[in-house]
Amino acid sequence: MKNLPALQALLATPKKVVIVTHFKPDADALGSSLGLANFLVKKGHSVSVISPSDYPDFLAWMPGNEMVLALLKENKETEARAEALISNADIVFCLDFSNLKRIHEVGPMVAKAAAAKVLIDHHLEPEAFADFSMWDVASASTAQLIVELIDKLGDLHLMDANIATCLYAGLMTDTGGFRHNNTTRKEFEVAAALVSKGANPSLVAKQIYDTNSLERLRLTGFALSEKLVVLQAFNTAYMTLTQHELKKFGSQTGDTEGLVNYGLSIKGIKLAVLMYDRGDEIKLSFRSLNDFNVNTLARKHFEGGGHKNASGGQSKLSLEETLQKFLSILPEYKNQLF
Ligand code: 5GP
Ligand code: MN
Repeated sequence: MKNLPALQALLATPKKVVIVTHFKPDADALGSSLGLANFLVKKGHSVSVISPSDYPDFLAWMPGNEMVLALLKENKETEARAEALISNADIVFCLDFSNLKRIHEVGPMVAKAAAAKVLIDHHLEPEAFADFSMWDVASASTAQLIVELIDKLGDLHLMDANIATCLYAGLMTDTGGFRHNNTTRKEFEVAAALVSKGANPSLVAKQIYDTNSLERLRLTGFALSEKLVVLQAFNTAYMTLTQHELKKFGSQTGDTEGLVNYGLSIKGIKLAVLMYDRGDEIKLSFRSLNDFNVNTLARKHFEGGGHKNASGGQSKLSLEETLQKFLSILPEYKNQLF
């Protein structure tokens, strides 16, 4: 961060802080936000975390969860509360996203806020809207950028088990449990530091990965046995899920998370895609191996983006039309898939 001393000066006296993370937050989005929130509370600030949407139960256990205001479609009052918090804030932190479109209704609130804006993120191609930014695509998670920030502020002594637990959750999931190719010595070093501050790896893993409902497991089984399609000619695997199918398995927010990875676990598959109907739009998830860049694909065709090997996007077409669109663009990438 270029102007760290200015941020340090700002944080030297108690401030009204709002931390915003992206729509449908994952463990890195929520974990980095709550890690930072717990730290800033300890420093004497007044802190709220805003999630532009609901989030899964398997993320609702993190220390500080009560600080989160989640905007719910069915409750317009939450939007007004978010607006008031953001317009009164001295500092707005934007975590794990770098494009205001990713926070939906909250985007215009942040854009017009008088607060100092701090962007902390690791996604590709950021938008320039912040006064301070800590942006590093080489970082496997936003959570570890929070560790770096706390360190640079000279406050590592304030790191406790609650802060470390939230940050460990983000680091663990964004590395796919320390399996993805963003896992380097550095990630293990940060993980070790967090564990030494009190994060418990098996408890965090249990809360996030092993608290499935039976319905969610059945949905996974159904998707794998009935909906997984392999296109050998393109080294590609995809799954689609309709609203009806999701409802049939009583699907809750987060139940589809991780499904896309099964496609990529097939030997020889270089591109895996999940498309499902969210009701108001189709959500797409892309995962790839090595040099195949799904950020470019998601950005060009599906109003999305993310990382080189893990990206997301959306489509306002029907599920079937979205699938047809995807199938029609695949030949464009054929050479890169071999
Ligand atoms: P997922 O497929 O799990 O939703 O997302 C994969 C990665 O892409 C995550 O890092 C996520 O933050 C990012 N991502 C998901 N959807 C979008 C999107 O619409 N736009 C951008 N820029 N990134 C996205
Ligand atoms: Mn992340």
